[in-house]
Amino acid sequence: MSGAGFIPYGRQDISEEDIAAVVDVLRSDFLTQGPQVPTFESAIAEVTGAAHAVAVNSATSALHVACLALGLKPGGLVWTAPNTFVASANVARLCGAEVDFVDIRDSDYCMDPDALEAKLAQAERKPDILIPVHFAGQSADMKRIGAIAKAHDIRVIEDASHCIGGRYDGQPIGACPHSDICVFSFHPVKIITTAEGGLATTQDKALADLMGLYRSHGVTRDPDLMARKHAEPWEYDQVALGLNYRMTEIQAALGVTQAARLDDFIAHRHKMARRYDAALADLPLILPWQNPDSHSALHLYPILIDTGKTNRTRREVFDHMRAASIGVNVHYQPVHTQPYYQSLGFRPGDFPVSEWVYARALSIPLYHGLTEAMQDRVIETLGDALR
Ligand SMILES: *Cc1c(COP(=O)(O)O)cnc(C)c1O
Repeated sequence: MSGAGFIPYGRQDISEEDIAAVVDVLRSDFLTQGPQVPTFESAIAEVTGAAHAVAVNSATSALHVACLALGLKPGGLVWTAPNTFVASANVARLCGAEVDFVDIRDSDYCMDPDALEAKLAQAERKPDILIPVHFAGQSADMKRIGAIAKAHDIRVIEDASHCIGGRYDGQPIGACPHSDICVFSFHPVKIITTAEGGLATTQDKALADLMGLYRSHGVTRDPDLMARKHAEPWEYDQVALGLNYRMTEIQAALGVTQAARLDDFIAHRHKMARRYDAALADLPLILPWQNPDSHSALHLYPILIDTGKTNRTRREVFDHMRAASIGVNVHYQPVHTQPYYQSLGFRPGDFPVSEWVYARALSIPLYHGLTEAMQDRVIETLGDALR
């Protein structure tokens, strides 16, 4: 029985096989810089259909090396969506670039291609890089966003932190048909986990090589990348200024066994989301829209409290759920409303759709270990909260 135990909004699912894989690494010769990271990279390249995969210690690091590889410099400009975790914007600031935002659509809660076109038409300066965010596991409208970016000679990084295993327009997310680089997160609340971890996919070998350099000090022993062509056997070349963003062997081994269960994870999320769709249909809620072009990875099940149909506030529903040990959460406080971004001159009201969604949003539990009995408790409690 699930009893009155705490039900989080998201949680990792760790099998005995995952544990055995990690223990094997601890007994092996390599805790870092061994065979597991390339094995994990190959596994994700296969899942996504990408030619190249570069594993790092977080999605934040992956976004950072992606910006560096695309040549983002101090004084550069990045546009992203306000409805995201702060990292999507912060990486641009860490490169010394300026950040601005493009508001989201009220259908998929992702960057609005119409808003993007309108902003470009008015902009004194085009961004160097666009970072659309695939909210809740469902792809942004990449056919349009990619076409607009191409027409304006803007590079594109997909922040696909929510959607390893998702599909868009018949292809896996990460195949990059409309972008330069696609980034995934393996934080424990995401679809598969490496504890902390992230990865960037690309079809462009030169970008993959650059991200590989930035992940490890800008240092290489690859003869193709070395500056000195007649190096002594012990020599390595530092050819760029990089960081230590390496993923460990422990993390990568966990990623390999987790990735083997990816289809199972996604199938369970879909089954549970369909149960929510049916059970919540008559409540005063706006349920997540399924884009027919997308097979969402369903990282989140974000509901909006339909304030036109109930006097209950989001805060009241949040408190009721938390008091019943149900770990609802809110995704996301719009990035431009954070104190740091306010200090850069952004103001509440700047991106009204993101703020409208934020004012109503509540993410309810969805993860592999969520059973039907647990979900029934969530549904019942939510009904009580709205009554
Ligand atoms: C989780 C997340 C990140 C950051 O991922 P980390 O692996 O924790 O660095 C970035 N963007 C989005 C949209 C996320 O959800």
